Amino acid sequence: MSHDPVYVTRPFLPPLEELIPDFSNIWETRVLTNSGPYHMALEKALAEYLEVEYVSLFCNATIALVTALQALNVKGEVITTPYSFVATSHSLLWNNIQPVFADIDPVSLNLDPDAIERAITERTTAIMPVHCYGVPCDTDAIQKIADKYKLHVIYDAAHAFGVKRASGNLFAAGDISVLSFHATKVFNTLEGGAIICRTPEMKRHIDHLKNFGFVDEVTVVEAGINGKMNEIQAAIGLHQLNYLEEALCRRRLIDTQYRQAFSKVEGVTCMAVCNESISNCAYFPVLIHDNYPVTRDALYALLREHNIFARRYFFPLISDFDMYRHLPSANPANLPVAGQIASKVLCLPIYPELSDEDLQRIITLVQNPSGEKK
Ligand SMILES: *Cc1c(COP(=O)(O)O)cnc(C)c1O
Repeated sequence: MSHDPVYVTRPFLPPLEELIPDFSNIWETRVLTNSGPYHMALEKALAEYLEVEYVSLFCNATIALVTALQALNVKGEVITTPYSFVATSHSLLWNNIQPVFADIDPVSLNLDPDAIERAITERTTAIMPVHCYGVPCDTDAIQKIADKYKLHVIYDAAHAFGVKRASGNLFAAGDISVLSFHATKVFNTLEGGAIICRTPEMKRHIDHLKNFGFVDEVTVVEAGINGKMNEIQAAIGLHQLNYLEEALCRRRLIDTQYRQAFSKVEGVTCMAVCNESISNCAYFPVLIHDNYPVTRDALYALLREHNIFARRYFFPLISDFDMYRHLPSANPANLPVAGQIASKVLCLPIYPELSDEDLQRIITLVQNPSGEKK
């Protein structure tokens, strides 16, 4: 029996007929971009949903990260995690900043605050942590270090949309947080992203930077970029918000079923359940240990044979890519935990429309990779 391919994620979209009136309106008015009404409405709706004051929409999170570093005038060295999507470090290179990789914590898989502190030099100006898989970083410990050494903190919060934390708003941590609304993320505008900042002055600055540096028709104050989100994306985002709770519920149900199914499987561990926050279940990473019947890569290949495309996020580590491995901090001896995790991790499919049947097929394969009758 052959099945349709199951990918690690499948972007959620609202019903098309719901979008048509808004698309018609955009066709009618010819307001396609440049902070139009949908853009303004989405900024407002997101600020409310995220319970923050200042949101600036962007065309994607990578340009938003690059812009965030510009807005804070970050230079020199920035301490960051090797266990992330490559855009995190790339945003530093685009600003001629040297990434300094620090190791991660084996439970949260986020930057280990002690490792951050050990990596600080005279040239360090900022920390760029990632809330990996939506698991909140230890923001208090990171802020303490930042205050002690007078460093900026820019959170790559690309995985964290929809995460709620009991001990204060996650997006209020640090100087800036950057969200991604890419197709593969929990909340998508096809492509898109946003910067969350703390002051009206900073938002104004960021809004200039994303619009070529224009302040008014005849005044350009800095070398800005074109980071604007267009009206179609913003309109889609407004509709997506209406389905978010439903989508998160379905994700959490799948997460629970995976956890129950794997609790008795030797050699497979799931991420710890964090009692401090409500997860967005953006990803379902498992670690495949030596006492599992087959290797991580053999399980990955087995799933592929069944048309199930799990992903080894984040293998290879950013620090293992050719363009980064020459950096002193990229030495594997400096990053033992990240190296271990990258060799064991496998992200299983999780998305609102994942069918019960496909979910069960994945579970059965992971439970019994040798295919023996039980
Ligand atoms: C997706 C992602 C990005 C990049 O987001 P885009 O919107 O695709 O530019 C950056 N960092 C992390 C951790 C991501 O997962």
